[in-house]
Amino acid sequence: MSITLPTVKAKVNLRLLSAGHLFLPMNLFVEGADLAVHKVPTMSWAIEHQETARTVILDLGVRKDIENYTPAVHHRLRNIIKVDVEQDVYDSLSQRGIRLEDVDTVIFSHLHWDHIGNPRRFGPLTQFVVGPGAGNLLRGPQSYPSDHTSWFDSNLFPPGQMIELAAANDSSFWSPLGPFPETHDFFDDGSLYIVNAPGHCPGHINLLAHIGDGRWVLLAGDSSHDLGIVHGTKKMAIYRDEATGLPKCAHQDRVAAEKHLERIRELLKMSTVEVFLAHDDSCFEQLYQRFG
Ligand SMILES: [Zn+2]
Repeated sequence: MSITLPTVKAKVNLRLLSAGHLFLPMNLFVEGADLAVHKVPTMSWAIEHQETARTVILDLGVRKDIENYTPAVHHRLRNIIKVDVEQDVYDSLSQRGIRLEDVDTVIFSHLHWDHIGNPRRFGPLTQFVVGPGAGNLLRGPQSYPSDHTSWFDSNLFPPGQMIELAAANDSSFWSPLGPFPETHDFFDDGSLYIVNAPGHCPGHINLLAHIGDGRWVLLAGDSSHDLGIVHGTKKMAIYRDEATGLPKCAHQDRVAAEKHLERIRELLKMSTVEVFLAHDDSCFEQLYQRFG
């Protein structure tokens, strides 16, 4: 049976925001990739819903003041993965003429440091939406500062402003759409769906946006770090973890990540769908012009 998406009139306007660059060793992501370190963007998106005049942001990228990440992340950025944040998401919002007070919701694809920026620059009325299970990363003894070695800061969000989406098995919140078993109609008019996208890390989600005339865009976050893997022409790198000696890949749950990629491949059989990854360096400049 072929995949279909609903016919809807409602749409959103997408605007790409530059939110810093990372230097990634692609051989840890793509099997057989060269050993060179590649400079890749971390993309954020502004999603404008004209009907309600609401603006939602997906991801906040890398912060300029890296010393204000948790000590473990700061150490990593000084010693292992370099970043270049000449322009952060706030510079990009200002360049695009979007005021912080006009952003009512920030949705996080996940809570890794290269997607969280500094949420505390938004005002007290902004809501921060995270995927199912992501809240646990910020609570309890495994988060910073209880655990000094944690990547996840229990003070990331101002108190009371985080909304964690319902568990994946809660069918009063999630419904199937196209190839995806769990999606949520964010504006309740079919223009923007949150898609549960497990695998990369707890709470990883994608957004599926109707940009008009039956054309759709899947903002796939870190579901993959290379479009070749999405299209099935390349393979995910699997390597030995030096600390544990066990096989490791870019995703915490490789089986779930592969399953989600299969679903994206199904979706891409529709010629009216495009997929954009947060760190795809192949088309950033074109996309930045196109979604200006
Ligand atoms: Zn990332």
